[in-house]
Amino acid sequence: MAPTTSRDPAPPRVEAVEGDITREQVDAIVNAANSSLRGGGGVDGAIHRAAGPVLLEECEELRAGPLPAGLPVGQAVATGAGQLAASHVIHTVGPNRHAGQTNPALLRSCFTESLRIAEELGARTVALPAVSAGVYGWDIDEVARIAVDAARSHRGRSVEIVRFVLFGAPALQAFERAL
Ligand code: ADP
Repeated sequence: MAPTTSRDPAPPRVEAVEGDITREQVDAIVNAANSSLRGGGGVDGAIHRAAGPVLLEECEELRAGPLPAGLPVGQAVATGAGQLAASHVIHTVGPNRHAGQTNPALLRSCFTESLRIAEELGARTVALPAVSAGVYGWDIDEVARIAVDAARSHRGRSVEIVRFVLFGAPALQAFERAL
């Protein structure tokens, strides 16, 4: 018989808010990283600044260990969260449109893999940014459609709330349209 403490796999509540993802009080924050895992601009830079140097140290340990060539596009990996209020950072690498990475399945994979890792971590609440909608050049409406569809398709025993945290009103409106 299944343990009574574990709920049946269920879809999460999916929501969108405007804000700075580094301020989120959730179990896991998803980072739109780059393959090097060595930090960058945009939301990646903001998360590293807010988490403190320990986050980069943990990323360097991944490079020195299981990920010598970095994290491939569409995959996700977890670290601790340093000084953030969250317990975990889940790093994922979005496809870069400017580098010819235009396959929507790769972008969808960023969201599904991040949520799969969140399940493994036992996270109940997860905050995600609009992966690839910044420097990597994807249209915000396309990102929103793919992200919302991936989140709504998720089925798990742990993740109950998926919150997209968007920078600026146009990004929020795109996610509200997709919802
Ligand atoms: P990518 O390289 O995957 O495109 P970016 O960081 O350039 O990643 O942008 C992804 C999205 O994150 C953009 O919509 C950008 O406006 C947004 N963003 C940047 N900083 C933050 C932040 N602190 N909180 C939430 N979203 C952010």
